[in-house]
Amino acid sequence: MNVAVVGTGYVGLVTGTCLAETGNSVTCVDNNPEKLALLQGGGIPIYEPGLDVLVKRNREAGRLTFTGDLAAAVRGAKFIFVAVGTPELPNGDVDLKYVNAVVDGVCAALKELPKGAPGDRIIVLKSTVPPGTNRAVTERVIANGCSHVSVASNPEFLKEGAALEDFMNPDRVVVGVRHELVGEALGELYAPYCTVDRPFLVMAPESAEMTKYAANAVLATKISFINEVANLCDAAGADINAVRKGIGHDQRIGFQFFAPGPGYGGSCFPKDVLGLIAAAQRMGVKLRVCEAVDEANDAQKKVLFGKITKHFGGQLAGKTFAVWGLAFKPKTDDIREAPALTLIDALLAAGAKVKTFDPEAAKNVKAIYGDKLQYAADPLGALDGATALVLVTEWPEFRGPDFVEVKKRLAAPVIFDGRNLYAEQEHHLLEAGFTYYGIGRGKN
Ligand code: NAD
Repeated sequence: MNVAVVGTGYVGLVTGTCLAETGNSVTCVDNNPEKLALLQGGGIPIYEPGLDVLVKRNREAGRLTFTGDLAAAVRGAKFIFVAVGTPELPNGDVDLKYVNAVVDGVCAALKELPKGAPGDRIIVLKSTVPPGTNRAVTERVIANGCSHVSVASNPEFLKEGAALEDFMNPDRVVVGVRHELVGEALGELYAPYCTVDRPFLVMAPESAEMTKYAANAVLATKISFINEVANLCDAAGADINAVRKGIGHDQRIGFQFFAPGPGYGGSCFPKDVLGLIAAAQRMGVKLRVCEAVDEANDAQKKVLFGKITKHFGGQLAGKTFAVWGLAFKPKTDDIREAPALTLIDALLAAGAKVKTFDPEAAKNVKAIYGDKLQYAADPLGALDGATALVLVTEWPEFRGPDFVEVKKRLAAPVIFDGRNLYAEQEHHLLEAGFTYYGIGRGKN
């Protein structure tokens, strides 16, 4: 089947590549000339494990091409995926200007072509958009003279860092359609990815749009909830790891997305929680839980800095802090809303210096901070000249450092562990002379 994917970011590039992998002919479109030139030259603008191999294979097989020519890409396509950004407006609402620009461009290219039956030509909204957007886009498409073009909603649930696995073997695929034939066409496209226990779910567009926000909001809620319990553990002298075991074995609760940390970041949870609150407000509904989740997360992003300030009696000026991990989570180079950046800003504002290491995200941080920070070539290198180590992102390479070497290099052997990565080894660290702070380990 012929597919066009507009937007070659984390979602669009993965979608296009994975659709090509099962034999479709895919044209990816982007309007960022630098990104496009890189992709056309065989490069990959983002880090996502395994993506380079899959892109190469499908490019070489002639199933995956990249262009800046939207009109040419969509004219021959049955499915036109819209995977552009939907950033947050200052009031928390979702900015749909990129989605609308693509829809207008698609319509301009399609309106002169012969009209077909429903399902012959489908704009598939993959970007995360608030409930009601499919309806508004459908009206826009009709106003643009393209009543023969259908508009489906197909929210994406992939996780950066495991995006290929998530797309190829999804827990479920959700589509929102107004016409049975559109659902059937999408069912055919997604058949290679779905099984009995990985179902293809067809529903109304409003329900599909809501499903995406509800999914992200519940995950964000779990994180904010366990973060607050962890903070209470610190105050009460309880150990969050013990508490997690105690509650997680209850099958109604479980362990997933229930680990405390420095607050959630990324391009989705913060924006989507606010987007849902704003959409609800427009409909006259108050989402008190989501409001609290967002507020708790803002506070959580300051917890590590609070522990550091307290330990050093507020005397941070002139000290250097080693920060391990900059990406908002491991196995990605994405630093959007990353908690490491909140910490770094606070350290710099307090007059401290920061020496960082991240396996993939340093270049993106450097593009923002330049020489305000130091960038080490390896984890241990970040410790040289540093007073203390602050672990923010749990990359696998940070799991088992040589603690003898860590102690030798740090001016004061203090570890602030934002992910409780070394919590189970705490007594060894204390024996070795470290001072150790985790999140929710019974001390502030
Ligand atoms: P991104 O910023 O990485 O990529 C968006 C791309 O769209 C960019 O390459 C940009 O140049 C391109 N673009 C913008 N306007 C364009 C236009 N008019 N024509 C062609 N290209 C255009 O964004 P992303 O992280 O891939 O997210 C895309 C959408 O998917 C968002 O709505 C997001 O909320 C949603 N989403 C993201 C994730 C994730 O993990 N990143 C997961 C699920 C859903």
